[in-house]
Amino acid sequence: MGLLDGKRVLIFGVANDHSIAWGIAQALHGEGAEIGFSSVESLIDKRVRPLAESLGSTFVEPCDVQRDEDIDRVFNRWGETHDGLDVLVHALAFAKREDLTGRFIDTSRDGFALAQDVSAYSLVGLTRAAMPQLRRGSSILTLTYYGAEKVVANYNVMGVAKASLEACVRYLAADLGPDGIRVNAISAGPVRTLAAAGIGGFKKMYADFADVAPLRANITIEDVGRTAVYLASDLSSAVTGEVIYVDGGFSVLGVPTAD
Ligand code: NAD
Repeated sequence: MGLLDGKRVLIFGVANDHSIAWGIAQALHGEGAEIGFSSVESLIDKRVRPLAESLGSTFVEPCDVQRDEDIDRVFNRWGETHDGLDVLVHALAFAKREDLTGRFIDTSRDGFALAQDVSAYSLVGLTRAAMPQLRRGSSILTLTYYGAEKVVANYNVMGVAKASLEACVRYLAADLGPDGIRVNAISAGPVRTLAAAGIGGFKKMYADFADVAPLRANITIEDVGRTAVYLASDLSSAVTGEVIYVDGGFSVLGVPTAD
């Protein structure tokens, strides 16, 4: 008996087997869920379909979340092939590389709008398109980072986008709560992924993390997957609008220092 037996899950954001979305997919599948995938078109054939097939999944649809017609197409396809959606996972973000290094003050209008559109508004767009297929007990998850709350060097425009994303989680939780649909975010510690590689100074920040985080270890996509099981399942039946940290305790420190 899995905690998610019979649940239908749609995950946006697998790029490869290092992706946080992939850690979530494996964990939810391990508890009995059926998983569908959506990702940007260029990654589908080489990266996403083989991973999906390894979990017995045949639903793999391209989507650029900046395009409403792509979003509608994915959910129409889902509706044609599934009777409802229990879990929606939003694990994607984007900002221009030049906006993820140096000073925040130099962020361009374009770069600011792009980061907000892909990284925050997309949660609203995906949730609205999913609504007809969600039901009482459905759960929506997204991924955020501590740079939403505190200044993290080079995270810059993405920190502002994540602050916006976390506010979107609270407003969506209030909108959807009366229908019994929950919306939460996982705030993950640093993980070596494609997206993280674009952040200035990430390697050093990743290396230093384990020296100062209370649990003295970097976190893994499996760690995030286990918390995703909790948020996707009835174990978290009364939890909505929350940001849950999977960061080895890093965010509780006032002045992080190594031994
Ligand atoms: P990743 O590179 O594996 O995944 C990012 C995904 O975003 C990719 O699949 C990419 O295709 C997708 N994406 C970008 N633009 C898109 C668009 N226009 N339309 C559709 N998809 C698009 O990296 P990841 O680190 O696993 O990122 C997943 C989420 O986790 C992101 O929200 C990220 O900000 C968040 N996060 C990452 C870390 C970390 O250290 N890696 C920490 C906390 C939160």
